[in-house]
Amino acid sequence: MPPSLRRLSFLTPGVQRQRQPLLLAATYRAFIAHTHFGILERQPPTLFEIIFLGTSASAPSVRRNLPAQVIKHDEYRFLVDCGEGTQRQILQSGLGFKRLNRILITHAHLDHILGLAGLLSTLMRWETMEEMEIYGGAGSLDRIRDLLYGVVLRGGTPPMPLHLIPIRSGVFFKDADFSISAFPVHHRGSDSFGYLFEQKGRRPFLPEKAEELQIPPGPWRRELAAGGEVTLPDGRRIAPEMVLGEFRPGIRLVNVGDTGETRSLEPVCHDADALIIESTYMESEADLARQFSHLTARQAAELAARAGVKKLFLTHISRRYREKDILQEAQAIFPDTVVARDFDSFIVKREEEALPPQPSAG
Ligand SMILES: [Zn+2]
Ligand SMILES: [Zn+2]
Repeated sequence: MPPSLRRLSFLTPGVQRQRQPLLLAATYRAFIAHTHFGILERQPPTLFEIIFLGTSASAPSVRRNLPAQVIKHDEYRFLVDCGEGTQRQILQSGLGFKRLNRILITHAHLDHILGLAGLLSTLMRWETMEEMEIYGGAGSLDRIRDLLYGVVLRGGTPPMPLHLIPIRSGVFFKDADFSISAFPVHHRGSDSFGYLFEQKGRRPFLPEKAEELQIPPGPWRRELAAGGEVTLPDGRRIAPEMVLGEFRPGIRLVNVGDTGETRSLEPVCHDADALIIESTYMESEADLARQFSHLTARQAAELAARAGVKKLFLTHISRRYREKDILQEAQAIFPDTVVARDFDSFIVKREEEALPPQPSAG
């Protein structure tokens, strides 16, 4: 964690969200979804981290920059959208540009892509990045191609291999431990996609079962936790089924971007641990929301409630409203709502239920 990010416990009573001091530290808020999940020794970290770099809708305000978030998992960092000025937000957050070479674009409205031009222009001077991948719908990439190759590069070559990768619905990025899939989003005729970050499900190791069976601590437990059969020193053979609990789906983080409707999003949001979604309007101007294909805070909260998500993050905030009014409107429907601010950071994870097998004991 960069030193400028301060960690605050989101759940601790009495902890206030800190205002961001000018040009200084970002606020760090953590939340733990109250579900149970075993974290086992030598298994990848079971969490995602969200850092909001820009939370404004359409135009920047004094306090909010244009849309951009970083989603971190293990060594991976994904930038989702890149509004104008994002490179400065990256600097200010202390994140740095290292390994920030995968960019996911929800759609090509200018408030979500103009920052790509500045970012590329800076990287042309520094040449610090080995490769850059920009993912988005084919229509979005057309506009991004115009911006980067037409305006920034103008016939020149990019400072690093630059890949514009068109996506369709479904999984488009996969590692051993997690995947990212795209799903269509309906927003003013744009070629919009939302992103589902999903950790692989697994069966948790149950130490009490291991105790019952008198399995000594050490490599046998680790092997069982990894799904292998073992033969104990006393000759007994133990199958993993004997010490593993029910299969549990992995953590799911849904990042929608701008959208004009919520019905089609319910299946992908179902039981998600966290949902990041726009909240451009309030219910008093629901007709404008409809006209411009955006959501009200209430509509976003209703989706969260219907889909049974655990935590709702509202972003794409208009300066026409007060933050506390937006929060109030949403919390009346879905209490576990946060109105994100620039440089807010959250950890999305689940409470541990199993003690990890101790490698030192074996
Ligand atoms: Zn937008
Ligand atoms: Zn838009």
